[in-house]
Amino acid sequence: MVRMEKKLKKTKKTFENELPQIPLTRKELKNLFNYRIPCLCCGKEMLHPDIYMYLSGRKELCQKASEAIKLLEPFENIMHPVERQVFNMFKTMSTKYPDKNFQELLLMKKDIHELALVKIQSSIFNKISFYRRILPKKMARQLRKLMIKTNDIIFDPEPHKPFSRRIFVHKLKNIIRNLENKSIKEEIIKIARRLPRSSDEVCAFVVKNARKRPEIIALNLIHPSVGTFEHLTPKCMHGLSNSLNFALECTYCNNSRHHYPIPIQIEENPYMPKNAQIQADKLISLCKKGICNKEYIENLREVLYWLSDRYIDLDISQLYFT
Ligand SMILES: [Zn+2]
Repeated sequence: MVRMEKKLKKTKKTFENELPQIPLTRKELKNLFNYRIPCLCCGKEMLHPDIYMYLSGRKELCQKASEAIKLLEPFENIMHPVERQVFNMFKTMSTKYPDKNFQELLLMKKDIHELALVKIQSSIFNKISFYRRILPKKMARQLRKLMIKTNDIIFDPEPHKPFSRRIFVHKLKNIIRNLENKSIKEEIIKIARRLPRSSDEVCAFVVKNARKRPEIIALNLIHPSVGTFEHLTPKCMHGLSNSLNFALECTYCNNSRHHYPIPIQIEENPYMPKNAQIQADKLISLCKKGICNKEYIENLREVLYWLSDRYIDLDISQLYFT
């Protein structure tokens, strides 16, 4: 038994030796966020996760809005569009209501934004309900049930549970998962994906955040911009957790990719190949200053090329010019 274990250990070691060298440690990779790196997917500048951690401990965020605004103002330029609009709304409101905090200000706006949101949602639900006419009977019945339940939630001013876009899309996908006609299936999912998220519509942000604590609302203004390590091959598909498989991406893009393959991520973000090049150019310039590592960039190029079905073909020739 002992001998067998020894043998196993030995085999494992040989295998490890065959693995390629890891170009950057987590710490070195994280350090790159200090240099205004644009997100691989959306191209927006990312916030260093340590700065986010530092801000999350600051008491100004739960005080009156003007205090929180002062603290967040230096990060206004890296906020994503909806968050920036909400931040500007806070700036305007806080001069009018100087004693209120972020939560109190959002609650004042909640009703009007909720109505706007329900208007957008109900028009999308109508479009989805239309498919009851063409779906097989059993699916049509299930869809009817789901839509009745959903309408009950969104038209009730005090719903038992708030509407969740994520759960709705999941249930809808489940209902039509065995639908043979693929193009109708895709059409339905595409329509459902148009349901507003708090990241695409101010009204959805206000409704989602109005009942949260003021400091959480404040942090949600910058959270999408926080830099993360995106697993290029998703973890659930046995992707490695080291820099051979890590790309620098903002929290928003990382979360919205889930574990979809990169070509689907490109479909949703047509500028991704262009943005990936902008990031690579930035990394190359850091490499010349000795901050990034050549092998990391070469590996990123290679992995992106294959995982994106050759859509992302980074030009890294500048890496070899002195
Ligand atoms: Zn991004």
